[in-house]
Amino acid sequence: MSLQPKTLRSLVRAAAEQVIASAPELTALDQAIGDGDHGANMKRGFEAVLSKLDTISAQPLDEAFKTIGKTLVMTVGGASGPLYGSFFLAVGDALRGKRLPDDLADVFSSGVGAVSARGRSQAGEKTMLDVLFPVLEILKSEPARPDLIERVRATATEAVARTVPMQATKGRASFLGARSVGHVDPGARSSCVLLLAVCNTLEAQP
Ligand code: ADP
Ligand code: MG
Repeated sequence: MSLQPKTLRSLVRAAAEQVIASAPELTALDQAIGDGDHGANMKRGFEAVLSKLDTISAQPLDEAFKTIGKTLVMTVGGASGPLYGSFFLAVGDALRGKRLPDDLADVFSSGVGAVSARGRSQAGEKTMLDVLFPVLEILKSEPARPDLIERVRATATEAVARTVPMQATKGRASFLGARSVGHVDPGARSSCVLLLAVCNTLEAQP
């Protein structure tokens, strides 16, 4: 794709700013079923991304995603750092030779597949994948819908709520066993925050 550098800049800035603004909420979610560091981890990572905004927005799209991925791997830490890092690195790889928006589902699928492989995790385990997989399904099954952005936004939001009754079988929350039930998964929420920021920014493009 040729995303205009200005659009790429707006997308990266919005995603980073929304994650940073959500840090207290992500912290509270991780305090309930983890160790309370997800907000700080994500904030640190996306502040590092913001500090490279000029570089990132001047890069071709595949390179821009790789820079974001590498930055997140180096700065986020915890379980989520390598997982989000893998997502962006795999999307960067997949973007080479692909076209957006035509290949959006393929490209997103590469990112989701990388998270699943790195985390040895699947849908239904109360993780970020419980948002990423349902969104991938929408991109695959309904790519041409005129209300795709609205569908992605609604799907991601509903998917976060659907993590509440799940019992975690991966990550720190799995240590709680049945006591992980009844809470939103922090990584599912951070994935949703990122996706909503992208949707809102794309929708606001002239
Ligand atoms: P840590 O659990 O090391 O403290 P974070 O708090 O930053 O790391 O991230 C926790 C989030 O990472 C979880 O809420 C979950 O969504 C995600 N996560 C953890 N383990 C996995 C995994 N194996 N596969 C997918 N996502 C995972
Ligand atoms: Mg944590």
